[in-house]
Amino acid sequence: MNFYILTLFPEMVEGGLATSITGRAMEKGLIAAKAINIRDYSKEKHRHVDDAPYGGGAGMVMQAEPICDAYEDLCEKIGKRPRVIYMTPQGQVFNQQIAADLAREEDLVFLCGHYEGVDERALEILEADCLSIGDYVLTGGELPAMVMIDCISRLVPGVLNNDASAEIESFHDNLLEYPQYTRPEEFKGLKVPEVLLSGHHKNIEEWRRQQSIQRTLERRPDLLENAVLSKKEKAFLEELVEKSGKEGETS
Ligand code: SAM
Repeated sequence: MNFYILTLFPEMVEGGLATSITGRAMEKGLIAAKAINIRDYSKEKHRHVDDAPYGGGAGMVMQAEPICDAYEDLCEKIGKRPRVIYMTPQGQVFNQQIAADLAREEDLVFLCGHYEGVDERALEILEADCLSIGDYVLTGGELPAMVMIDCISRLVPGVLNNDASAEIESFHDNLLEYPQYTRPEEFKGLKVPEVLLSGHHKNIEEWRRQQSIQRTLERRPDLLENAVLSKKEKAFLEELVEKSGKEGETS
């Protein structure tokens, strides 16, 4: 899978993605992340790529022309017109489902804004989809692009050593992951739950699902509305809800 990042700060994106799991995935040729410097497409003597907003107001706006030229040059080079995603706090908030959808693409372009953002016409011309990483404002789109690329890369076959681990993590089935433990069996008086030491795979699986349901109820009850649960698990959840309701009444 190929990621192209249109940015004013290529070194930030390339440095971040070249480390750890995404870095190894690049070395193996499973993913490629290429940062394209929008400034290289400025036609101005001082390589300016931004200007004051029409209508007045604070800050600078990134101009449409260098952005569109950078995209067209990329398309010519690769012989395709990949989907463009604009990083913006005004977009739909990125989540695991969106990551799974995007992981099906062969090529993706991430457009990173800076300053007050980009001239709206660039977004229209590139037919950009807008995505956000949350309801807060950052200085630029580079970190959001890296967040999304990291998340999507994990879903590319072969990127994680054990592909199954991506399937049972938080948000799979709309549940958070169960608690994890590793050696030693006892630490500062706290013991690893007995069932995990039992070697009984069915019981372990059942315990983990129940822990996932309980944890999701406690930490992200909003997810449970779309959680994928068996009949038995639904009954378990109802029991937990009833119990927590009763505890609430008595406290
Ligand atoms: N004036 C813009 C607004 O109010 O919507 C915010 C511009 S922000 C200071 C500069 C750039 O950072 C944006 O163009 C966008 O690329 C990026 N950015 C900031 N917050 C973001 C978020 N939560 N998600 C995705 N991108 C974000």
